[in-house]
Amino acid sequence: MAKLYFYYSAMNAGKTTTLLQSSYNYRERGMNTLLFTADLDDRFGHGKIASRIGLSSDAYVYKKDFNFFEFIETKKKVIPNLKCVLVDEAQFLSKEQVRQLCDVVDALKLPVLTYGIRSDFQGELFPGSYCLLALADELIEIKTICHCGRKATMNARMNAKGEFITEGAQVEIAGNERYISLCREHFHKGQVQPENHCVVGMQVA
Ligand SMILES: [Zn+2]
Repeated sequence: MAKLYFYYSAMNAGKTTTLLQSSYNYRERGMNTLLFTADLDDRFGHGKIASRIGLSSDAYVYKKDFNFFEFIETKKKVIPNLKCVLVDEAQFLSKEQVRQLCDVVDALKLPVLTYGIRSDFQGELFPGSYCLLALADELIEIKTICHCGRKATMNARMNAKGEFITEGAQVEIAGNERYISLCREHFHKGQVQPENHCVVGMQVA
């Protein structure tokens, strides 16, 4: 039975690596897959899904007005042995698009694997994640760790100076900010590194 899966995590947990591995597993067995990524994520070039450890694959790019159901229904007629749909950056999906992916599962009987970040730098759910947490058949957490060794579930945004930022748009495009995955406690404390951390060269003699 086909299902809608939501693989969620904090940032830098290896979601994209997991997606590419899953697609590879299907293709190794002679089955075809369709890969999608968000228009917003252009770090590695348009129409490409790339993981931090060097794997990559071509992918279709979806924008806000993209209709997953229509596109996949058409592709299913021409791609032999199409067995799985994989969607990266699923936190950016709209409510309508999540509904379309539900229809791909229920009407076209294709499994859909979505991969996304659960919450933003202010600890709020992303819209796509909000809908997927409500509608997915299977919720699977991909885990990563905080500097304290506990599971990291939150994403802190930092500016170019390494300072913790709590204001701003949910999605910053082409900014200088970066993200660090933290446990809830250290996210709420704004503590981005261990307490006794000494930066080399900055200690007083
Ligand atoms: Zn922690």
